[in-house]
Amino acid sequence: MLGNLKPQAPDKILSLMAEFKADTRQGKIDLGVGVYKDPTGLTPVMRAVKKAEQKIWETQNTKSYTALAGEPEYRDAMSSMVLGALGGDRVASVGTVGGTGAIRQALELVRMANPDAVIHVSDPTWPNHVSILNFMGQAYEMYPYFDNETRGIAFEAMLDGIGKAKKGDVVLLHGCCHNPTGANPTAEQWDAIAESLEKTGATPLIDLAYQGFGDGLDEDAAATRMIAERLPEVLIAASCSKNFGIYRERTGILMTLTNDAKSRDLSQGAMAYLNRQNYSFPPDHGARIVSTILTDDALKADWKAELEEVRQTMLGLRTQLADELRTLSGSDKFDFIARHRGMFSRIGATPEQVARMKEDAGIYMVGDSRLNIAGLNRDTVPILARAIVEAGV
Ligand code: PMP
Repeated sequence: MLGNLKPQAPDKILSLMAEFKADTRQGKIDLGVGVYKDPTGLTPVMRAVKKAEQKIWETQNTKSYTALAGEPEYRDAMSSMVLGALGGDRVASVGTVGGTGAIRQALELVRMANPDAVIHVSDPTWPNHVSILNFMGQAYEMYPYFDNETRGIAFEAMLDGIGKAKKGDVVLLHGCCHNPTGANPTAEQWDAIAESLEKTGATPLIDLAYQGFGDGLDEDAAATRMIAERLPEVLIAASCSKNFGIYRERTGILMTLTNDAKSRDLSQGAMAYLNRQNYSFPPDHGARIVSTILTDDALKADWKAELEEVRQTMLGLRTQLADELRTLSGSDKFDFIARHRGMFSRIGATPEQVARMKEDAGIYMVGDSRLNIAGLNRDTVPILARAIVEAGV
């Protein structure tokens, strides 16, 4: 039976990682995989995470099952972190296996609520969105998003695209730090997006995987909060992988906001049911780290301070890279790198130019020319800038 399986195409980013590893050149630079790296190339365990783990180790006296929806302390703490004071009793939520699990459960929930729903996703989007939609056989359409000339958002086209969504459809939005492009709507553009959703009656599904990596913890949640305030029904899939640096602990949350207690309770029940069908109890360790940090003033302050250091490091690298490119190219056409936010920027290079940078300079980025800013440090920025100009981008 198992011999009938079809071979699966390997994940492009994981293949790139393997290729990088096999490259024996000194000075090679990995800008592929989407994890934060400090200037020494390490993806560190955050200070507050270490302390929270110690606290858990010292105080935890059982590893018995918890709640099917995940621990309430974690879900409440995440609701506050994402929604501020807004959350309250409009929110139903479940802990999930990472942000990926939250997206998957969100799509399953939509399918249960409306089998005819069409999911509208940005072109481009995080490839795993499309991969999961294809795997599920879920109907979807792509709305224009990126302008390859300006490396900003093709906003009029985007609005046209999401305007085609109907009531009962879902519009998947990146709450901040768009992956893979790094280009994000302005506050006015977010208002127009909310207006479009109000008009069409489509339900937003907000993927919030990088809160704290863009403009700040609250700033990165501002669009999500505005939409949650204005729209009667909102789904939010949040990940703790990046902002707590707990990638392998698989910590995420799916939240729904509704305007009536009946829909909230139905949603809560359906999400817990979905957890049961897919993996039963969600992972606890990462969720407990997060709630331990968020409910302890000292740990929370330390975590926020370190997250801010991470954010500032990435912003500094963006500014340095944009400055180097302005000098080397004699033009301001790369200034978008300083305007982009989050870990990624799509620099608009052709696949041939991406290949050339790999071959000539040992610089590895994803084929669509997405680079991970955090893969750089102050010494490698000038090397990348030179390679970009020499490749003729
Ligand atoms: N959404 C987006 C846009 C992402 O980039 C990621 C991580 N690469 C996720 C969701 C999910 O991350 P995880 O499952 O590791 O929490």
